[in-house]
Amino acid sequence: MRGLAKTDRTEGAMELIDVDRPEPGPGEALVEVAYAGLCGSDAGIYEFESAFERMELPTIIGHEYAGTVVETGTDVAEYEVGDRVVERPIRGCGECYQCRIGEENVCRNSTITGVDHHGAYTQFVAVPEGALHPIPDGLALADAAIVEPTSIGARAVIQNSRTSPGDRVLVAGPGPIGQLTAQIARAQGGDVAVAGVGQDAEYRLPLAEELGFDTINVEEADLDAIREERTDGVGYDVVFDTTGHPSGLTMAVDEVRKGGQIVLVGQTGETTMPYSPLVRGEIDLQCSYASMYEDFERSLRMIDSGTVDTDSFVDDRFSLLEADDAFEAFVAGQTCKPRFDVSELHA
Ligand SMILES: [Zn+2]
Ligand SMILES: [Zn+2]
Repeated sequence: MRGLAKTDRTEGAMELIDVDRPEPGPGEALVEVAYAGLCGSDAGIYEFESAFERMELPTIIGHEYAGTVVETGTDVAEYEVGDRVVERPIRGCGECYQCRIGEENVCRNSTITGVDHHGAYTQFVAVPEGALHPIPDGLALADAAIVEPTSIGARAVIQNSRTSPGDRVLVAGPGPIGQLTAQIARAQGGDVAVAGVGQDAEYRLPLAEELGFDTINVEEADLDAIREERTDGVGYDVVFDTTGHPSGLTMAVDEVRKGGQIVLVGQTGETTMPYSPLVRGEIDLQCSYASMYEDFERSLRMIDSGTVDTDSFVDDRFSLLEADDAFEAFVAGQTCKPRFDVSELHA
């Protein structure tokens, strides 16, 4: 079977390779992939950021997908051939302290599908059944493929923020996680604005507007004036930083109200800033990482109910046969959530 793999430790270096169809081991289901999304971390592998130096190459990438069980290994209890499923791609080791106390999202020895073992940009993946979730009847595979990034937003908003009805909320970063976080924060009762930079003006900020949000281009707008108007000069109750850029945190500190909350979701590298305003404002600085079983279950239901809109969010213009186009467009902010029809690989 063909799959799109990272093949070299340089920028780009994504190629279609041939690998054997995996055999499902004990407790594993073999899933035929239908649709798969392109995620910020896939773009990180494309650019080969330092977080991915541990990868053994070539590795087929891709971790957000939906598919159908086509074979089961021995001892599989919950799934049978024909079941439609999504995978939780970050796997806890099950043995470290964090896994034992139910914090497997911060497992000390976690492995990630499409990074530490072959991922979903190919026809078949073998998955331990404990990492699978059934897709609700009536929810299309194409829509379910977006559940993994949705679960990141769900964890950030529902588990890790105090967003409440009437709260003024700012989401910094109109990438996929930002757009999903904004939708879930709105469902939680927040009055949400989405902020981006100049390169977002072409695609991502208009997309946020299409999803019903007021948007702010921080390179052009007068942030003080907008904060004055949107929050009566008080500042935002909750600011989510999904930018993945060092300026995200410093901007969040400027925008949050005293006594408010900053939720860091993007991984922003290094920044230097005075932190006394955080202390003197008694700002609640909360981080949110990955997602867990409950976040997936909620996300499947939020996509099914339309609380999270996948139709306008997803971009079907790209193909795994010309994947560089999708990665280049993603890095340039000219798309938000490319979704591939994986069956093209074996058509
Ligand atoms: Zn992802
Ligand atoms: Zn662990």
